[in-house]
Amino acid sequence: MNNADLWKVRESQTARGVGVMHPVFAARAQNAEIWDAEGQRYIDFASGIAVTNTGHNHRKVKEAVAAQLDNFSHVCFQVTPYEGYIRLAERLNRAAPGPTKKKTIFLTTGAEAVENAVKIARAATRRTAVIAFTGAFHGRTMMGMALTGKVAPYKAGFGPLPGEVYHAPFPAPYLGVSEKESLAALERLFKADVDPGRVAAIMIEPVQGEGGFYPASPRFLQSLRALCDTHGILMIADEIQTGFARTGKLFAVEHAGIEPDLICIAKAMAGGFPISGVIGKAETMDAAGPGGLGGTYGGSPLGCAAGLAVLEVIDEEQLCERADAVGSRIVGRLEGIRQSDAGIGEVRGLGAMVAMELVEEGDVSKPDAARTAKIVTEARSRGLLLLSCGVRGNVIRFLAPLTIPFKQLDEGLDILNDVVRGTR
Ligand code: PMP
Repeated sequence: MNNADLWKVRESQTARGVGVMHPVFAARAQNAEIWDAEGQRYIDFASGIAVTNTGHNHRKVKEAVAAQLDNFSHVCFQVTPYEGYIRLAERLNRAAPGPTKKKTIFLTTGAEAVENAVKIARAATRRTAVIAFTGAFHGRTMMGMALTGKVAPYKAGFGPLPGEVYHAPFPAPYLGVSEKESLAALERLFKADVDPGRVAAIMIEPVQGEGGFYPASPRFLQSLRALCDTHGILMIADEIQTGFARTGKLFAVEHAGIEPDLICIAKAMAGGFPISGVIGKAETMDAAGPGGLGGTYGGSPLGCAAGLAVLEVIDEEQLCERADAVGSRIVGRLEGIRQSDAGIGEVRGLGAMVAMELVEEGDVSKPDAARTAKIVTEARSRGLLLLSCGVRGNVIRFLAPLTIPFKQLDEGLDILNDVVRGTR
């Protein structure tokens, strides 16, 4: 079947609430390339939304999963535990930033990691309120949705949402929100809306992902850490999109030299196998009583095997360093394009988590979502898969696998250059 025929089935048989960015059906993928149902090849600058940092079908990951599959695919850690789970936990506890002893729980999706981080924070602090940031994305479950700082399409029509969730403006200097204002807004929140003594946690993405790839500066994250300490609030880093070498460090908070109380992980941790987790300070993690956490598939054996292999690949192939190299190659090229294109308002990023924001005539108040969508569509028709993001729908994000050969990276950037110029 060709893409158009498959699309008809998709439209008649599956819920439209699951939005699709590219109506081409994947048939095969290898490292940074995807082939569709018609045999058309694409260079992948999406990585399945920041998942295949180690590339599609990395040999080591495949072998580790195949070996696990030969033993068993599921027994449930809550019934008969298995070594992969505890070894992956051990490895992540060692790698997580900060001197405090850590413990880890594994789940299945990013949203589930977020839900569990909130449960753990509430159990540990015996407080209830949670603060997140405008523009944040924390998932599509009830609490994830409540924490997400964007109404349409994530929350509209899906209420009532869980209570005791507050939002402060995320610092995005390009949009006119300074760090100072963001911190002042938190102080205002404590005066006007919620007693800080009732706040269990503040959750933040070190680089806001779906919201538009706005990095929180090390100074801001340090200030937030200090604010949390002042009020006995737990700091939760949602590293679901930033994690696993994407930003040039295993965890993006390492750039700020801070130790969060809890870290949500998912996506790239297993290179495409569904597993997520929460890593946290041991005492905090153990606040939740036995039976209070978990899930049938949480920390699936296949996910754990893949996760251990991914960590090895990151080490062996020095993917943190590679992220910086990939990122600076993309930024260099985008800055070149921006010089002669007033429609590109800003190029920004951390490591290989790079974005460009499109605005009309360089005016930040005029987001150019139409041109953004056009670039994404045109690029696909020329064999390049891009992803947009941003609360205003006017940001193109670059999330190529960190293992992408430079030749393919340049090929993709050449296509992008032509398409961007062609849409001016
Ligand atoms: N948090 C962040 C920062 C994310 O980027 C995402 C997914 N885009 C999620 C949470 C939710 O993860 P999942 O889709 O696996 O539930």
